[in-house]
Amino acid sequence: ATIISTLKESGDENRVAITPDVTKKLVHNKFQVLIEKGAGDSASFSDQAYIDAGGEVVSRDEALEKANLIAVINQPDEATRSKIKAGQILIGLLGALIDTDAIQQLAKQQVTALSFELLPRTISRAQSMDVLSSQASIAGYKAALVAADTFKRYFPMMITAAGTAKPAKVLVLGTGVAGLQAIGTAKRLGAIVSGYDVRPASRGEVESLGAQFLTSSINAVGEGGYARQLSADEQKQQQEELIGFIKQNDIVITTAQVPGKKPPLLVPQAAIDVAKPGSVFVDLAASDLGGNVAGSKPDQTVKTDSGAQIIGAGNLASELATSASEMFAKNVQAVINDLADKEAKLNIDLEDEVMSQLVATDHGEIISNRLRAALN
Ligand code: NAD
Repeated sequence: ATIISTLKESGDENRVAITPDVTKKLVHNKFQVLIEKGAGDSASFSDQAYIDAGGEVVSRDEALEKANLIAVINQPDEATRSKIKAGQILIGLLGALIDTDAIQQLAKQQVTALSFELLPRTISRAQSMDVLSSQASIAGYKAALVAADTFKRYFPMMITAAGTAKPAKVLVLGTGVAGLQAIGTAKRLGAIVSGYDVRPASRGEVESLGAQFLTSSINAVGEGGYARQLSADEQKQQQEELIGFIKQNDIVITTAQVPGKKPPLLVPQAAIDVAKPGSVFVDLAASDLGGNVAGSKPDQTVKTDSGAQIIGAGNLASELATSASEMFAKNVQAVINDLADKEAKLNIDLEDEVMSQLVATDHGEIISNRLRAALN
């Protein structure tokens, strides 16, 4: 039988790429499923739950050795990567456009690597495979909760015998999948919410959630529905216009990304300096490359001299590990279903409009055009 394996993630990652539920469906579809011991622990899926679903719990080496397809959340570390053999398929958030050394190592080893960052977003057949959307949606939801939990005032307006509390004002910078979910969640908590993006098309989506859209003086529509990178002048202009918006809000949630590039700095130090004491910034773009908020640090909360807090929250999906894993695993299953024939054999058609983009490397070649452009 064709063997699907999943590994235990390293570091602070709580998610797992295959759940018991998806194991059951794969087994039903004639696959054999191997789970590295403890892989689901941090997402509250026990080894026994996988066994009950028809999977087998094995060592990491066995999961790697026997697999036809290895599903992961993040790019495995180098020691693990070096054990993946020619012809094996690796699928996950491999960071193809950023971690180019890792992807080139996989190419050299003749691994077939599918990197979810490369999935075309606008082809309808690919929507069920869209890990970026499923995980961004979770991160946006959690960002609003983290902000509400950190803020020292109410989110909703409260009229009580002891007086009236004003509602919190929340600004969301970057209104893609994560930003829209943050807006919806903050609205449900009763805050007054506005959104800002450099893609004018997002106005309608923001307004349909009952939030105000703040018009950007810059239009930066790029390819494939994404934003393009701003020029240095545009970036300066943007920061100046944003300082005014930021000052009027209590909470700023930032989600701006440009694929394969360092996240744009939207909240400069000058904006932090004039923020009201008690203000909360939640930076979903916080990473080792930098983030949207000056001074944000991945996985850390920084207190500023002006009495604001900056929360570096680059991996919030991991904090909702069970829901995030369930969705991730369904996205993986959709890819497997797409590749499998009736006998559960996996065939990758590199001419196909989805696979020609999702596949980063195959037989030692770089397949994705976007990746090829990034490597040059
Ligand atoms: P993303 O994670 O790449 O970026 C998040 C948001 O940040 C985007 O809205 C982007 O415009 C914005 N941004 C980037 N630079 C900015 C800057 N300098 N200032 C302000 N905002 C900035 O985006 P995403 O959430 O992955 O969504 C990307 C696009 O894909 C969107 O157009 C979305 O609607 C589209 N999408 C389509 C489908 C589909 O058709 N099925 C599915 C998912 C996403």
